[in-house]
Amino acid sequence: MRLLIAMMKHETNTFSPVPTPLARFGHGPGPLYGEAAVRAYRGTGSGLGAYLDLAERERAEIVLPIAAGAPPSRPVEDAAYEHMAGVICEAVSKGGYDGIMLDLHGAMVTESLEDGEGELLRRIRAVDPATPVAVALDMHANLYDAIVDNATVVTGYRTYPHIDTYDTAKRAGEILLAAMRGAIRPVMAWGNVPMLPHVMRQGSDDHPNQELQARCAAMTTEGALAATLFTGFPHADISNAGLSAVVVTDGDRGLAERLRDALLDQAWKDREDFVYRIEPLPQSLARAKALPPLAAEEGPIVLLDHYDNCASGGTMDTTVVLAAILREGLDNVAAFAIYDPKAVQQAIAAGIGAEVSLSIGGKIKMPAVPGDSPPLTVTGTVKTISHGRFRNRGPMGRGVLMDMGPSVVLDTGKVEIALISRHVEPNDLNCLLSLGIDPMQKHYVMLKSRIHWRAGLGAMAKAVVDCAGVGVCTSDYGELNFTKVRRPIYPLDLPNR
Ligand SMILES: [Zn+2]
Repeated sequence: MRLLIAMMKHETNTFSPVPTPLARFGHGPGPLYGEAAVRAYRGTGSGLGAYLDLAERERAEIVLPIAAGAPPSRPVEDAAYEHMAGVICEAVSKGGYDGIMLDLHGAMVTESLEDGEGELLRRIRAVDPATPVAVALDMHANLYDAIVDNATVVTGYRTYPHIDTYDTAKRAGEILLAAMRGAIRPVMAWGNVPMLPHVMRQGSDDHPNQELQARCAAMTTEGALAATLFTGFPHADISNAGLSAVVVTDGDRGLAERLRDALLDQAWKDREDFVYRIEPLPQSLARAKALPPLAAEEGPIVLLDHYDNCASGGTMDTTVVLAAILREGLDNVAAFAIYDPKAVQQAIAAGIGAEVSLSIGGKIKMPAVPGDSPPLTVTGTVKTISHGRFRNRGPMGRGVLMDMGPSVVLDTGKVEIALISRHVEPNDLNCLLSLGIDPMQKHYVMLKSRIHWRAGLGAMAKAVVDCAGVGVCTSDYGELNFTKVRRPIYPLDLPNR
């Protein structure tokens, strides 16, 4: 057996100013290829890790032309897309495969394309119309006809935070292997409803997504090979942004359609519960200060600077929430993180133990959203200098090497501020521990995150306070200028009926 395995992942925030060249994909100067990619992902809790394990179990020969994943940002540069899709299609064109297993995201927009994944699959099918193709997608996929039409099986995550990337790819791969053996004949039905669920309301431990994902899982006892409810990625001004569903059955299209409709109906009925209510920042911080004092080792109060989540396209350099924390005099705080490669280099030049005054953040303009985030001047001691690399302890992306780039911690006396040089969302305890910050010793931990922080840090939080700052992950969708998304769409246009 011979399998082609590849990864090409990006969640595109069309309102983000953060560029997406090829160098953003993967570690160092670009994606990983061939053996280097196999070495990086074998044994990890990633989608590629699952495909590689399946291949090993089946004693299959593998070809892994490229593993490319970038943190969310603006549309992918055409040259980067053409390179990545080109490498995959060139490998496909060599032929001789029994199956193709792809780890994709499903919300990749390029400078020229709304649906990067659909175009990749269309090109693969143009080269090779016959070999079965498995596609594993993120729960934040924005689905298109071309994705479903050109794949044998499509399935997506059931958890947010995404702690089932491995299980999702394994499910896609197992269905593909069964199809390759001729044991099943997968058919798919997909559809969407005109709604943009708010990301802060999409957590799979919370109503309404918890029940929707449970329903997906239960459908495997009702004849589905796989059933997926994609909450979708709303910060994308493209026609198919929003909630969708895809159901795979063994040859029974009618059943696939009925189960798909059940998921879409349930989501539409719950649409009001996917709407997020914003609290003004001063109110949030007052609430945080008024919380009862913590006992020793009780765990910190988490302050979520969710408007600036780099894993949704945020610049990670807005300073509004951090400035308010400093102004309000909150004590014993850790803040993760401000993206500022220049300030990092200044702190490194000063050296450990040096007192420095730095102008941090506020350097990336955000023309697509209102609100100003000026640079913030802070004075403190350089506490930590690090190369910024760590391995995830999990449960999210267990074992995957993360790279914050050169990183420092600046200690103002009350607030320890992590400054980093590459975008990494704080979803793993090791992003803090690797910089010498023990969150259990902190009264407050400010995180630039929305839901994923819960994966590695949720269990320790004594309380959580959402802090509305400034950023391209603005929680007020009315502030975003949607021109391409299909209209009308809830909650932008439709009344609560
Ligand atoms: Zn996602």
